[in-house]
Amino acid sequence: AKEQGKARLEVFDESLRARAMARLEIEAGLREAMAAGELELHYQPKISLADGSLYGLESLLRWQHPVLGTISPATFIPIAEQSGLIVPIGEWVLNTACRQAAEWRSRGHEFVIAVNLSPVQLSSPSLARVVDDALRDSGLPPAALCLEITETAIMEDPEAARRVLQSLKALGVKLAIDDFGVGYSSLSKLKYLLPVDIIKIDKSFVDGITDCPDDRAIIAAIVSLAHELGATAVAEGVETEDQANALRALDCHVAQGYHFSRPLPAYRCFSQSEILSAA
Ligand code: C2E
Ligand code: CA
Ligand code: CA
Ligand code: CA
Repeated sequence: AKEQGKARLEVFDESLRARAMARLEIEAGLREAMAAGELELHYQPKISLADGSLYGLESLLRWQHPVLGTISPATFIPIAEQSGLIVPIGEWVLNTACRQAAEWRSRGHEFVIAVNLSPVQLSSPSLARVVDDALRDSGLPPAALCLEITETAIMEDPEAARRVLQSLKALGVKLAIDDFGVGYSSLSKLKYLLPVDIIKIDKSFVDGITDCPDDRAIIAAIVSLAHELGATAVAEGVETEDQANALRALDCHVAQGYHFSRPLPAYRCFSQSEILSAA
């Protein structure tokens, strides 16, 4: 009962906090956050299921607010998108991730760094130039950068997305389709995914892989679709050994999730004590 009371209090605190920090305040705070050094990238490993080696790292944005503590991207990214702030923030993310990855590479760690792109960035005419600049400034080889774009963002306007994806592809970067399976692409629209190198299977299917035959069947179908397209299947949100084994049995190549590692601050990646240093 004591535990329950505590949990309820936390929920209450959360909603109070959310109300106190109204949309506009978050927006105003975000404007300052970049300059104040409050934004930070964490990095979550993607692991090759065949041999446990490091396939890549996904950069995930964190906001350490001086008063409110860590604010989830699920809270502030939608606000950054509505206000257009996601464009300069996204540029900062690209530059920071590319520079960090180039630094790691110079120390002998070869892997693909992934950066999430918002649909707002996708419709920005400067996107390809921003990506190109980040590559040039950091010296990161284009093939070492992967851009993650959600299925929903692509299917909102597939024709426009096709042009943007082609302009990005022309730079030599890898493209991943994120949260695949929840955006409901009709079969006739699958051709828009052709330039994609990686298909990320949404966590909602992975959650059911051991207990739900339907989820397992959907994952099997996505994995074979990926293989037919010459793409790599990556399962996200893998939390247990059983899920990892089931994915391996379905021939899914790469997995990501708390079972392998939570997202880590840069200083903990490739450090002596981390599993990653073995990769
Ligand atoms: P996403 O791209 O689908 O990222 C995966 C989310 O799942 C991350 O949440 C990650 O920390 C979390 N996750 C990873 N493994 C597990 C697991 O095993 N179990 C569970 N329950 N969760 C897991 P996070 O970091 O809070 O990010 C949430 C979303 O915010 C991301 O979803 C992405 O859409 C967005 N986001 C994060 N960073 C950026 C960014 O730099 N730019 C843009 N545009 N969006 C970002
Ligand atoms: Ca992602
Ligand atoms: Ca995802
Ligand atoms: Ca997801």
